[in-house]
Amino acid sequence: MKRALITGITGQDGSFLAEFLLARGYAVYGLARRESWFRANNASHLAGRVEILFGDMTEGIDIASAVQDARPDEIYNLASQSRPGESWARAPETLMINGMAAIRLFETVRHACPAARVYHASSSEMFGRTTGAAQDEDTPFNPQNPYAAAKVYAHQMARIYRESYGMFIATGILFNHESERRPLHFVTQKIAYGAACAALGIGDSPDLNERGRPIVEHGHLALGNLEVARDWGHARDFVRAMWLILQQAEADDFVVGTGIVHTLRDLCDAAYAHVGLDWRAHVVSDPALVRPLETGRTVANPARARARLGWEPEIGFAQMVHGMVDAQLARLREAAA
Ligand code: NAP
Repeated sequence: MKRALITGITGQDGSFLAEFLLARGYAVYGLARRESWFRANNASHLAGRVEILFGDMTEGIDIASAVQDARPDEIYNLASQSRPGESWARAPETLMINGMAAIRLFETVRHACPAARVYHASSSEMFGRTTGAAQDEDTPFNPQNPYAAAKVYAHQMARIYRESYGMFIATGILFNHESERRPLHFVTQKIAYGAACAALGIGDSPDLNERGRPIVEHGHLALGNLEVARDWGHARDFVRAMWLILQQAEADDFVVGTGIVHTLRDLCDAAYAHVGLDWRAHVVSDPALVRPLETGRTVANPARARARLGWEPEIGFAQMVHGMVDAQLARLREAAA
């Protein structure tokens, strides 16, 4: 039986990946912060089926203990301060988790289990301001926020460890992927939530935004720049790509995305139309919510992933958005019951 260690198992991707690996007969170990595991989280339903190793990625000793206890064949390093917008206010912490922790993990693996295969979660945010063409593995990085800068550092160190020590450290440069498990402070989930509130006639939502105000206030959802354009896919498809990346004969970097770009307007349209509403009556653009430096129009060229992994997304944009709205409707109805 293969053994896999997932850092960030309580997150969106970590929980989907754990399900995926369990279904393939893996023994799954997850590094999780104690306080996160003891409250409801994305992987709570897997309790008893996965082995949780408590630790914090900012503590080198916790990383070393987790690797030694799990004795993994495969390691998926997904733990991250994963909110680019918030990384401005938490830049040092973001560097510690997204940058330094990865190096500590690579160093631990080098000494404790050099034959283990490591997947590291890189991000399309690393491309930052783009020139318009689709991004592939050779596109230069031009990060526009502390999150992306820390990801570039870890990505480069993954390559350096791979080339210097011959270790199997592969990266996935993943474009945005969403699901009903996306935290509520991400704009995609806010839109799904806003559409669900509008459908249920909720004028002031019970959940609050970063400013401590209802996410939906006086019947309106406030967003930043609605022209932001991204390549959005579904997290279930993307964790399959992570696994495929570790099944290759050689470690490499892989861009993973759908190759199709949508704007936040499109997302609003799909979400509100799903509940029979026109988003323009419910969404307002608030300049105070625009990021100091906005990442450009990023869209994947996933040719390498298609050719070498045989990877194709199976869940389309509309299906993804509808699933998120349905999940928010169910959650709000349950809370009101
Ligand atoms: P997520 O839902 O925010 O999950 C992040 C995970 O990291 C959580 O389990 C979180 O644990 C854990 N974590 C954060 N700080 C930690 C620390 N100090 N010690 C231990 N664990 C810590 O993120 P995701 O969407 O699943 O993304 C997975 C990875 O892919 C991340 O590295 C992200 O940056 C990268 N990525 C994501 C996307 C995307 O669109 N989703 C795109 C490109 C790259 P807690 O529950 O304790 O907070």
